[in-house]
Amino acid sequence: MQKQKARVDAGIEAAATERGVAVLLTGNGKGKTSSAFGMVMRALGYGQTVAVVQFIKGEQLSGEELYLRERCPQVDFYQMGTGFTWDTQDRSGDIAAAEKTWAAAEPMLADQRYDLVVLDELTYMLAYDYLDRDRVIAAIKNRPVEQSVVVTGRGGGTELRAVMDTVSEVKDIRHAFAAGIKARRGVDF
Ligand code: ATP
Ligand code: MG
Repeated sequence: MQKQKARVDAGIEAAATERGVAVLLTGNGKGKTSSAFGMVMRALGYGQTVAVVQFIKGEQLSGEELYLRERCPQVDFYQMGTGFTWDTQDRSGDIAAAEKTWAAAEPMLADQRYDLVVLDELTYMLAYDYLDRDRVIAAIKNRPVEQSVVVTGRGGGTELRAVMDTVSEVKDIRHAFAAGIKARRGVDF
C-alpha cells in the first residue's frame, strides 16, 4: 500500500502539463453517459462553461436532459433528437441529422469559452460513417488547449482512441435488463 502510494505521489509530482483532457468512455457496460454527466456536474461546480451535444435520434427523454434544460440555462444543450430511431433505414436522413448535429458541435470545439464539451454517443456517427472521421478527429485534436472533451459510446475506431488522452472501457458484467427489470427513471434514463 505504502509503495503504491509513493508511486502515485511521485506520479502526481511528475505530472507537469496543465491542459484540457480528451476522455473516451466506451465499452458494453452501463455507465458511459452517466459518467460524462458526472463530469458536467463537476465542471459546473467550479462555475465552468459547459456544452453538451447528444448524437441520439430517439424521443426518449432523460433526467439529465430535463435537468439541464429546465435548471441549467447556462449549459448549452443540443440534441439530434429527430424522433426516429436508427432502424428507420433512412441513411440519407440519418446522415443529414448527424451533420446538422455536428454543425452545432464543431464550433464548440473551436470556442475557448467552453471548458468542457460532451459529445454523447458520438462514436456511432463514426461507426456508421455518418460523419467524416478525419474531420471529427481533427476538431477534437485542434480544440483550445484549456478545453476538455468527453466522447461516449461503444466502438468508435482506433483512430479516435489514438487522439484521446484518457480511454476507459466500461465492462458489462451484468445488467438488470437481462433479468427482466425495466429501465428505470433516474437510473437508466
Ligand atoms: P448510462 O446512460 O446509463 O450511463 P451508457 O451510456 O453506458 O448508459 P448506452 O449504450 O448509451 O449506455 O445505453 C443507455 C441505456 O441502455 C441505459 O438505459 C442503460 O441502462 C442501458 N444499457 C447500457 N448498457 C447496457 C447493457 N449492457 N445491457 C442492457 N442495457 C444496457
Ligand atoms: Mg450512453
